[in-house]
Amino acid sequence: MRVSLGIDIGGTFIKGGVVLDDGKLLEFTKIKTPETRGVEETIEAVLELIKLLSKGRKINSVGIASAGCVSKDGVIIFSPNFPSWRSIPLKAILEQELGIKVIVDNDANAHAFGEHEVGHAKGVDDFILLTLGTGVGGAVFSEGRLIRGSMGIGGELGHILVGEEGPTCGCGNIGCLETYASISGLSKLMKMEGLNEATERVSELAKLYKKGEKRALTIIEQFKKYLRRALISYVHIFNPKLIILGGGLSKDFREILEGLEEEVNERVMPSFRGSFRIAFSFLYEEAGVLGIALIALKDER
Ligand SMILES: [Zn+2]
Repeated sequence: MRVSLGIDIGGTFIKGGVVLDDGKLLEFTKIKTPETRGVEETIEAVLELIKLLSKGRKINSVGIASAGCVSKDGVIIFSPNFPSWRSIPLKAILEQELGIKVIVDNDANAHAFGEHEVGHAKGVDDFILLTLGTGVGGAVFSEGRLIRGSMGIGGELGHILVGEEGPTCGCGNIGCLETYASISGLSKLMKMEGLNEATERVSELAKLYKKGEKRALTIIEQFKKYLRRALISYVHIFNPKLIILGGGLSKDFREILEGLEEEVNERVMPSFRGSFRIAFSFLYEEAGVLGIALIALKDER
């Protein structure tokens, strides 16, 4: 049986796990991301985690997942979690250090691959994944394969333009879905509405909404409208059989998101009606780790 390490580099934690080629997660652990989020410190932390996880084991490959734009040859072109990183050849650096094959990919791609191998999308070859977390991540599976585009950085579903105003997105644009439907976007909107006096936590928005707090109602209604708008476009563009919603916000907003499938269904072209369903992720915390290890094992990048 072949063994791979999956490492998911996030802005707060670096998660790691040992994964077998049948999708079994043998071990899972996480360490704090260095506060500086600098290139050298973070790579050092990743190497330490790899050393810890590979102790006494023969490892076939290592997969690294990161938010942002990751080129086909494993260069982190840009990552919202690590603003100082520009064109870092992470694959080449780690392969030189470790002497084994390293694969680097976008974290939402990794999550989607995990869903396809062992999660809700098992046996489903056309689906999209949208992760509502710190940002909004996206991945597209079509005819059983991840769609990546010419540079390998496609599938940025979170940056579809759905609005005309609001805070500036991490990508520099205005009107991206991410600015209305992510933790970072919603916390900016809460500040703009003066809601940060009531609570700093985006997860509390659901409770305020339930109580009928006026500003929370405005923000959440806008969140729902733009999410719906984005999903309707994805259905028309990709014709998915399944839409998987992941990320922490999809957990906190579970009640708010109820009825979404029906609402989207009502607004798509008649030919698309009833062609898809919306499900919540099967994998949460371990998604990136498991998926990227499987991408590395199956040589899918
Ligand atoms: Zn954007």
